[in-house]
Amino acid sequence: MPSHTVADLLRGLAAGDFSSEEITRQYLNDIEQRDGHYNSFISVTAEQALNQARAADAARANGEAGSLNGLPIAHKDIFCTEGVRTSCASKMLDNFIAPYSATVVEKMAAAGAVMLGKTNLDEFAMGSSNETSFYGAVRNPWNRDKVPGGSSGGSAAAVAAGLAPAATGTDTGGSIRQPAALCGLTGLKPTYGRVSRYGMIAFASSLDQAGPMARTAEDCALLLKSMAGFDAKDSTCMDVPVPDYHAALDQDLRGLKIGVPKEYFSAGLDSAIGDAVHAALDEYRKLGAEIVDITLPHTELAVPCYYVIAPAEASTNLSRFDGVRYGYRCENPQDLDDLYTRTRDEGFGEEVKRRILVGTYALSAGFYDAYYRKAQQIRRLIKNDFTEAFKQVDLIAGPTAPNPAFGLGEKVSDPVTMYLEDIYTIAVNLAGLPALSMPVGLTNGLPAGMQLIGRDFDEGRLLAAAHQYQQVSDWHLRRAPDCE
Ligand code: GLN
Repeated sequence: MPSHTVADLLRGLAAGDFSSEEITRQYLNDIEQRDGHYNSFISVTAEQALNQARAADAARANGEAGSLNGLPIAHKDIFCTEGVRTSCASKMLDNFIAPYSATVVEKMAAAGAVMLGKTNLDEFAMGSSNETSFYGAVRNPWNRDKVPGGSSGGSAAAVAAGLAPAATGTDTGGSIRQPAALCGLTGLKPTYGRVSRYGMIAFASSLDQAGPMARTAEDCALLLKSMAGFDAKDSTCMDVPVPDYHAALDQDLRGLKIGVPKEYFSAGLDSAIGDAVHAALDEYRKLGAEIVDITLPHTELAVPCYYVIAPAEASTNLSRFDGVRYGYRCENPQDLDDLYTRTRDEGFGEEVKRRILVGTYALSAGFYDAYYRKAQQIRRLIKNDFTEAFKQVDLIAGPTAPNPAFGLGEKVSDPVTMYLEDIYTIAVNLAGLPALSMPVGLTNGLPAGMQLIGRDFDEGRLLAAAHQYQQVSDWHLRRAPDCE
């Protein structure tokens, strides 16, 4: 099973080569035997998975198979799942059993997907290495001394290790794309508003977006179809028809214009990653695409801009964790102030507290204009850069992350270096655009990722461009050495 893609599994299930119950059991066994190496799951929902699998098999027998019927998947533990612990990798929610399911979870279940469990992440999705989880760090299947990236590091490691054929992730500043890059996967952050955020624990509401993580662009196309679409429960979710992404994969790339921003090949970029991206661009030339040099002049402002806006939004979103209604509560509070203070002091980890402090500061009366308002103005300039570029080109390409997977512990005590992990991904969230990462090489045995950015709601073209590249390359088929 570990080497199967989503497309393989759906074909096999449809042909009756195996049942959902059989493959679900196999994945559950694998998780039990091998996840000790990676720590990619926070919760494994074996019993529920087998029930869902049997229901999917019965639905198929009745001729009622959904588009993901019987497919085992994993959900990032940021999505509420009814009756199942939803921790967001925080002590604050260690005891939280969600009373309802996120729209993404419901939609995928309605399409017949089987949930294997909930994957590890950085606490409240804040991080780029999956080292801030209350449940411990996740290890990269390509090299267990390295991080898998973050914050969707558990989803990435689970898929890279073959413990799930696909998983959901969320991306506020790069958390689908960067771990996909570091673990050799294909991961898509859709346009803001493409996928409902209902039931997804909020980090920075104007940036958060859910998307698929899998081995191939084809798999992401199959998954996105069932995740996307209007949801009245999320007022930022857009009522735009969901195309058949899978049917649109076979697009001829002749005449496609791909812009390459000079700012994405700056001094901090690992040269082997740069080489791998250039080699992939050569393949695109062979496929008939035209490569155009472009500029995104405000690129260097993206990280500082994000680290005002995201913490500002986080500080307000996280104010709900107060020990009163749900989640962690400190022992023996003396009074209400003590209840709030100690609950939040004991329940949140270091990085989360750092963000709350930065965000509260940026929003405070004396500093709002200097920081928050200024950051919003810069956000508009960044969006304008992309709008200008997309007058000239259809897609934008560059590296996903500035380096391959780094060592566990290497950056954890230096937040600014950690924040620079997202130097190429963050602007996309500020602009609300769709983007994907896909594997384009190996450097010292570690995956290199390339990012493709598209126009609003142009996920179809992004997926097709990635799929065409994957028809002429095999990086997406490489497996971590001990996960073959
Ligand atoms: N690494 C970025 C951060 O720490 C992005 C995280 C994310 O996309 N959830 O905020």
